[in-house]
Amino acid sequence: MDKVLCYSCNKSKNNLSVKKSILLPINLLMCEGCISSKFEPRWLVVIAGRQMGADSVREFILKKKYIGNEISASELLI
Ligand SMILES: [Zn+2]
Repeated sequence: MDKVLCYSCNKSKNNLSVKKSILLPINLLMCEGCISSKFEPRWLVVIAGRQMGADSVREFILKKKYIGNEISASELLI
C-alpha cells in the first residue's frame, strides 16, 4: 500500500492536509507540524527561487522555513 508522505518533512503522517503553497500556485500535502510552522517543502523553495529570483525566497532561507540541508545560493541558479 502506498503511504502518502508529507511534502515538507517526507514523513508519513496520519493527518495530512492540503495546503496552498505560499510561493507557487500549487497545492501541497503537509502534516500539522509543517503547516503550523509555516514551512514550505525545500524543493519548492528552490524552484520558486529559480523562477522568481532569490529575493522572493530570501525570508524562507534566512528563517529556515523548510526541512533539510541548507539551501545554498548556487542552488538557486539555473
Ligand atoms: Zn511535515
